[in-house]
Amino acid sequence: MTRYDIIVIGAGPAGLAAAQAAAAHGAQVAVVDDNPLAGGQIWRGGPERQTDPRARQLWSELRASANVDFLQQTRVLYAPEAGRLLVQTPTTSDTLHYGQLILATGARERLLPFPGWTLPGVTGAGGLQALAKGGYPLRGKRVVVAGSGPLLLAVAATLRDKGAHIVAIVEQASTPALARFGFGLLATPSKITQALRLAKQLSGVPYLRDSYVRSAHGDSALQSVRVQRPGGRELETLQCDYLACGYGLLPNLELAQALGCATSQGVVEVDEWQHSSVPGVYCAGEGTGVGGVDLALAEGRIAGLAASGHVDQARKAFGRRARWKKFAARLARGFALRAELATLADDDTIVCRCEDVRHGELRTHTAWRGAKLQTRCGMGPCQGRICGGATEILYGWRPDAVRLPISPARVSSIID
Ligand SMILES: Cc1cc2nc3c(=O)[nH]c(=O)nc-3n(C[C@H](O)[C@H](O)[C@H](O)COP(=O)(O)OP(=O)(O)OC[C@H]3O[C@@H](n4cnc5c(N)ncnc54)[C@H](O)[C@@H]3O)c2cc1C
Repeated sequence: MTRYDIIVIGAGPAGLAAAQAAAAHGAQVAVVDDNPLAGGQIWRGGPERQTDPRARQLWSELRASANVDFLQQTRVLYAPEAGRLLVQTPTTSDTLHYGQLILATGARERLLPFPGWTLPGVTGAGGLQALAKGGYPLRGKRVVVAGSGPLLLAVAATLRDKGAHIVAIVEQASTPALARFGFGLLATPSKITQALRLAKQLSGVPYLRDSYVRSAHGDSALQSVRVQRPGGRELETLQCDYLACGYGLLPNLELAQALGCATSQGVVEVDEWQHSSVPGVYCAGEGTGVGGVDLALAEGRIAGLAASGHVDQARKAFGRRARWKKFAARLARGFALRAELATLADDDTIVCRCEDVRHGELRTHTAWRGAKLQTRCGMGPCQGRICGGATEILYGWRPDAVRLPISPARVSSIID
């Protein structure tokens, strides 16, 4: 068993900021992350290779700290008891012992079902971006990027940089909502700079506002998508090789819930120190609400300082956190999902992809639990991580419990 003063789960911006703040004061810190390299989603591929100077600075300080261990390709399976975590690597398992725990487990995409969404060539927006960053070849491929949120722009820029031809960006938010969001950027000048940079990178790419993909078509793989344009106008057909489609982000709550942390409205409840309802367990970043990298960094710093007992220094970051929380609220308002998205699936559309459960079966149920027991919806390897976000929009239910281990595990890890 390995012991640490503080264990941080997640090596994204929140986790790196938390680890740096805690380690600067001498605590023995471990950063546990299931990816091969640190950086989380936005800094995927390693913080030292990013253009964002904050990534490189955090990384160089952490690498120089003798009191920080990085445990990459290490996934937390569950907590056998307070103060302990069972983790699994590709070859072995281990029990880690902690004094304080900081959860910085980030978010995943919300995917919504529509006819054709299971065709090869249809992926999440961030999903295709992650593949491209990992070397998946897209040069010369025609890609439609669709769904909602500023992430679509970042995804399209990455894909274009990798040689893809971006056919269009299809954004479901209405023009007035986008205009309000754009005006609100005046409160965060760094975001205006970022938006201008993205606009330059994406010059010439059609940005279809007030629009959404109704269906995807192809024989054995994607060939085209049908897009609903504003005001019930005729559907527009776009020929493409890939559709990268995601409807915003959903916090990864499974580990927090497995530890008993209170959640509400889909986020972990924390106090001003980022402390959860469970003693010694903090949460920072997307787990406490989707707000982007700046909020994740501010919350991570507060959590790291508070967990290592430096509350006076933590208080100094409150102002920055408050500013980015306001940005998060504007983001949520600007890209709220329209009601029509809940009506795209027809009876034949698969909703639970692991267990092949269709909309026609699910819509006769009234709650997640009953649907799960009778159809196996949410009982496959992803344990509702994909269909849970869809059933919330389609039927108003979300998974009501977490099964342990929180992700598929080798039997030997559990027996050990
Ligand atoms: C697919 C995707 C792509 C994105 N791309 C961009 C982008 O291009 N630009 C942008 O501005 N924002 C992007 N974002 C948003 C960005 O992730 C957030 O703005 C912010 O940076 C999140 O930081 P974080 O530290 O809270 O979480 P993350 O960066 O998500 O880091 C969380 C880390 O925790 C790890 N983890 C989770 N559970 C466990 C576990 N049980 N055991 C071990 N490790 C675990 C994850 O693998 C991940 O590495 C993306 C989000 C997603 C989901």
